[in-house]
Amino acid sequence: MPVEEANAKAKVVSTRKATGKRLLFNVGLCFECGACVGVCPHDSLALTGRGIKIDNVTCTLCNACVRTCPTGAFQIR
Ligand code: SF4
Ligand code: SF4
Repeated sequence: MPVEEANAKAKVVSTRKATGKRLLFNVGLCFECGACVGVCPHDSLALTGRGIKIDNVTCTLCNACVRTCPTGAFQIR
């Protein structure tokens, strides 16, 4: 699937009301390398066997996973 098409299917996984920003995750772009899990400063990410589970209570939208993911599975918008 082209990245543009896959990104159109990204789901909101975390929202910060104070900023109005949202973290979106596209499971179709995730190949479960685990890189994002290692860089999250709040342990908000975990591998599930079918992508990534995100704890939207502890996530601060710090952007580390967005910068780290080699396929662009995360976006903050
Ligand atoms: S945005 Fe930051 S805090 Fe939230 S899941 Fe990604 S790395 Fe963790
Ligand atoms: S860094 Fe990207 S491809 Fe790797 S596990 Fe995280 S979301 Fe999936």
